[in-house]
Amino acid sequence: MGAFSRREFLMACGFAGAASVVSLLSACSNNGTNTGGTYTFTVVSGAVLVESDPKTGVYKYDKKCQACGWESKNPITVKGTSVSTSFTCPQCHFNQKVEINVTKS
Ligand SMILES: [Zn+2]
Repeated sequence: MGAFSRREFLMACGFAGAASVVSLLSACSNNGTNTGGTYTFTVVSGAVLVESDPKTGVYKYDKKCQACGWESKNPITVKGTSVSTSFTCPQCHFNQKVEINVTKS
């Protein structure tokens, strides 16, 4: 079921780093005020949206392997910014990009 390899992945290179990046992004974007626009979220690759709020721009995503379908099931929260990163699937070791485009109109 991939439990061991997932844990190994988390410890090796995954969510500790990702979490601090998200914190940083949240901190940086807090000076922007919501002026009533609508956010649009587009997953380009390597992820699946768990939640998204078009008013605040806050969304959560899981990493998803394009090769075998593995999902992180440990949502990362982002506020109003696009994501461009990469990860190596703990199940099949496929290295891939995570790209989510966020636009506001
Ligand atoms: Zn995979």
